[in-house]
Amino acid sequence: MSDERAAIATPSNHGARLTRLRQSLAESGLDGLLVSALPNVRYLTGFSGSNALVVVTPTDCVLLTDFRYATQVKTEVAREVRVVIETSSLWTRLWQELQALPGTKVLAFESAHVTHQDAARFLDASSDGSRWLWRPAINLVEVLREVKDADELDRIRRAVRIAEVALAATLPQVHVGMTELAVAGILEKELRRSGSEGFPFETIIAAGARSALPHARASTNVIAKGDLLLIDFGAIHAGYCSDLTRTVVVGAAPTAKQLEVHTAVREANGSASALVRAGMRGRDADALARDYIQRLGYGDAFGHSLGHGIGLEVHESPRVAKTAESPLPAGSVVTIEPGIYLEGWGGVRIEDDVVLTSEGPHVLSSFDRTLLQLG
Ligand code: ZN
Ligand code: ZN
Repeated sequence: MSDERAAIATPSNHGARLTRLRQSLAESGLDGLLVSALPNVRYLTGFSGSNALVVVTPTDCVLLTDFRYATQVKTEVAREVRVVIETSSLWTRLWQELQALPGTKVLAFESAHVTHQDAARFLDASSDGSRWLWRPAINLVEVLREVKDADELDRIRRAVRIAEVALAATLPQVHVGMTELAVAGILEKELRRSGSEGFPFETIIAAGARSALPHARASTNVIAKGDLLLIDFGAIHAGYCSDLTRTVVVGAAPTAKQLEVHTAVREANGSASALVRAGMRGRDADALARDYIQRLGYGDAFGHSLGHGIGLEVHESPRVAKTAESPLPAGSVVTIEPGIYLEGWGGVRIEDDVVLTSEGPHVLSSFDRTLLQLG
């Protein structure tokens, strides 16, 4: 399949990303950025290991990691990146590398991703790193990550497909009398069998009244006849996540109330997915579903944001929320996940992943959104 071949990272992806970051550094008057957030390290260099520091300057990109990854870097890291394998301290080696880069004076660090202990290594007046001027920076790389390139879109598409295959294999195995944890176990097995590298977040399986808890963990709660069952889960392919939710009914035909609430959520999901546009503020996208649910009298029962960006992390920029003033860029991938939660009764959420192109939205997930009856 040509899609699969396109999903293999080419160095040019990372070269283009580094070029965009360098433009942003120049605009901010910075000589470089110390990247310590691992998703940002992966985005810029391709490296997926668990220990790395990266410095990007106008002319260089250095990745420091340890001996465990000496082989992995050879296949993962883009050719634009200079790799340093350090056997003792990454930080000591970082200062040596920076000293070898003439003209590097004002550096930014990712203030949301540095521990207090590590910040002391360069912010304390007596520290080795204090010979450079450090500026806190937020979201320099995260903003770039909002706009996905073709390779990233292919990976997300694959992650969505894996999730849908796993859900299709799971639903026929769900019956009255099973615990939520047992359903989570089957779904996670099917995700692995379908090729998921892991789980982007703890699988949410919530039956009956527990489906009214928007972020319920799967528990020993037993599925009863006629229960709503909310299933929120995702897959990971080549580092990229998908995030889907479907709500079904188990062991009996749906009640009129279950159908009414489910239909309200399905229509809110469908109209928001069709009407969301690149360039729209996050808050206006959120209103596409919220206003509709409010008109039906369920406004207070939809207490979370309509969605969120998705990519290397399951929750990333851009925001799709009541308070999100920033426009949604073309090329971003967001979830559309309206829900109605009635305490003591249950809840319904339907979540899809949508690419915002300049021509309009394209919904990546196509799994049946009707109120399916299982068991
Ligand atoms: Zn979800
Ligand atoms: Zn989500």
